[in-house]
Amino acid sequence: MGENVPQLVASERDRLLVLIGPPGAGKGTQARGLVEHYGIPQLATGDMLRAARSAGTELGNRVASVMDAGGLVSDEIVIDLIREKLENGTAAKGAIFDGFPRTVPQAIALDDMLARFGRSIRLAVMVEVSDDEVVRRTVGRRSCGDCQRTFHIEFAPPTLDAVCDGCSGVLVQRPDDAEANVRARLAAYHRDTEPVINYYEDRGLVRRIEGVGGQNQISDRIHEVIDRA
Ligand code: ADP
Ligand code: ZN
Repeated sequence: MGENVPQLVASERDRLLVLIGPPGAGKGTQARGLVEHYGIPQLATGDMLRAARSAGTELGNRVASVMDAGGLVSDEIVIDLIREKLENGTAAKGAIFDGFPRTVPQAIALDDMLARFGRSIRLAVMVEVSDDEVVRRTVGRRSCGDCQRTFHIEFAPPTLDAVCDGCSGVLVQRPDDAEANVRARLAAYHRDTEPVINYYEDRGLVRRIEGVGGQNQISDRIHEVIDRA
């Protein structure tokens, strides 16, 4: 591990940010905007797990059913994914942790891993969205099975029911977006992730952002708290 230290020297521009919020809060979209704006990578455990599934790896197969049902995969699995990124220098100039840590043990493990490189989390930005709003956003979400374009039955409906405007492919709902599974994701959020907010709150790192509004409006709010930190 010692040989990795030189890659990870802290600097003025060293930004290690955690993005926290319920499922469907728009964290992924906001994180991608932050990647552009600050030039630091997004480390999204959800994306890593989905990539493992698409690639059909042993890990991907192991986590598939838990993910589809809206449960959390084990701390050990996601901590290993993040450790690998930290050790290969991906976060050398900073990183946006998106969807991680989701439990207090994950938050402690992250602090321990960063401490070995003499680094620590700068800020935890919490994107606030009510449970009702989460359910409306996620349960109505559809995507094209062929070209992956996304729609929303209420906010961005396709011209024809269940048909992609782009390629006429069939629109499908992600298994974890079925209402019962969204409720399970919310329950996991309240039970396991809200304590993570308290964990960072105790360290004075939490900034709360209203997660309802236009995407630009929300990213402006996020830039503001990051630039002030
Ligand atoms: P969401 O759309 O719910 O915000 P993500 O894309 O972050 O979800 O993650 C999708 C799923 O991957 C989660 O519901 C969970 O099963 C799994 N997952 C992602 N990150 C973690 C994590 N840090 N700890 C445990 N499970 C995770
Ligand atoms: Zn399509």
